[in-house]
Amino acid sequence: MSNTLLAEVASRRTFAIISHPDAGKTTITEKVLLHGRAIQSAGTVKGRGSGQHAKSDWMEMEKERGISVTTSVMQFPYNSCLVNLLDTPGHEDFSEDTYRTLTAVDSCLMVIDAAKGVEDRTRKLMEVTRLRDTPIVTFMNKLDRDIRDPMELLDEVETELNILCAPITWPIGCGKLFKGVYHLHRDETILYQTGHGHTIQELRIVKGLDNPDLDAAVGSDFAEQLREELELVRGASNEFDKELFLSGELTPVYFGTALGNFGVDHMLDGLTEWAPAPMPRETSERTVEAGEDKFSGFVFKIQANMDPKHRDRIAFMRIVSGKYTQGMKMKHVRIGKTVNISDAVTFMAGDRERAEEAFAGDIIGLHNHGTIQIGDTFTQGEDLKFTGIPNFAPEMFRRIRLKDPLKQKQLLKGLVQLSEEGAVQVFRPLDTNDLIVGAVGVLQFEVVVARLKSEYNVEAIYEAVNVATARWVYCEDGRKLEEFKRKCSTNLALDGGDNLTYIAPTMVNLNLSMERYPDIQFAKTREH
Ligand code: GDP
Repeated sequence: MSNTLLAEVASRRTFAIISHPDAGKTTITEKVLLHGRAIQSAGTVKGRGSGQHAKSDWMEMEKERGISVTTSVMQFPYNSCLVNLLDTPGHEDFSEDTYRTLTAVDSCLMVIDAAKGVEDRTRKLMEVTRLRDTPIVTFMNKLDRDIRDPMELLDEVETELNILCAPITWPIGCGKLFKGVYHLHRDETILYQTGHGHTIQELRIVKGLDNPDLDAAVGSDFAEQLREELELVRGASNEFDKELFLSGELTPVYFGTALGNFGVDHMLDGLTEWAPAPMPRETSERTVEAGEDKFSGFVFKIQANMDPKHRDRIAFMRIVSGKYTQGMKMKHVRIGKTVNISDAVTFMAGDRERAEEAFAGDIIGLHNHGTIQIGDTFTQGEDLKFTGIPNFAPEMFRRIRLKDPLKQKQLLKGLVQLSEEGAVQVFRPLDTNDLIVGAVGVLQFEVVVARLKSEYNVEAIYEAVNVATARWVYCEDGRKLEEFKRKCSTNLALDGGDNLTYIAPTMVNLNLSMERYPDIQFAKTREH
């Protein structure tokens, strides 16, 4: 492997933000981009009501609701690193997308509303990151408000999320009396100034904890309190330990306010210094290292119409090893064909640009004309299949019906394509001509009808359907599977990828069938 390749790979940091809705993910994304010099002033990523919308806000509905339905990728330089930030949809109805995006990153930033502490969705997302022991950096946000006791917050993270906390900064006051943070590793106090949220502030720093300037800057009461608290903090909390961080057992914790753009840079300094460069990934054949010469990557996300002027679909690929160069040939392993990739896109700072080169850890977008599915592996010839990209059994079901029955073909095409993207799942019962749409959250149904109309020109409506849950079924024994299919055909369907699924009218029915057919495997997730 060449040194330039290794240096490029070593400089990559690819991460995503996990948080509960409203904790401040969008705001912190904006400030991160500001520090990465990727935007000129904050307020352009998701300008609610300002008429300016992020590039990812491709859908009217999304604009109206002000939620980010899509996943986008932003790349920017910071310190000596090239950082890839993968945005995840915040709305819980799109959690499948979020889960899959988390398979494409090497670390996560957990943003917590410090007035609220650990919330539901953070808990769920942390569970997902635990599956791969992804390293976590924590940002306690909204220090410009009255927050909960910082010590208590760390306690809560430790007990509820089962990860040790190592404070890197410590807050001085909060709300109207928020004075700044003391940086435990740099032994300096960085003073907060209000009213500079949209710009990069000139830092006001007081060196040393015993420096009388500190008393002058924050008031002697606060200074004294800080000194006392820090003794306690140093005694009671964990020191940062890089090994434990990299194994996902300990998180460095930063305090600040995304809105006030304070503390975000401290967090970024830590993330670029400590978070791992592109990590190896498993395939069903072998482990692939990021520094390998030969290119490989997997598709974790497909998204349509990011740019309304180009009605194409983009397959997001995480490069696992090697280097992409424009015009290179790649093997699309699932279909066994070599394809010429001449026009991949990168996501530098929100604007789509033509990628000349990209390296392990980077995300590139391939134009997809229906041949690429989530989970697909691309290589420079080797037959590999990356593992661990999940599909989740939907929990809500509707029958979908056309207003104009002549458009059945378009409807099916649209649904299959949308299911390949992971926007929704479609089931075709073996015994009927119904089309059943399954989703993890209710908003997905609305998105699908809106997209069917705008992209496929079909008007569809939903009806209630008697399906409570679905499981993918597998059986090693072909004969037993055939028998099962014969006896249970009324409850069997094919999904968008023609995989056999059991669609159960009730949980009781599912449990009975599982008891009755012990040789059949009923799976709640399916790997792409
Ligand atoms: P998301 O849902 O996690 O993307 O959260 P947003 O970034 O959209 O923030 C939710 C709300 O919290 C918005 O009204 C923000 O202006 C506000 N917010 C975000 N960060 C801060 C902060 O540091 N302080 C205060 N006071 N409000 C914040």
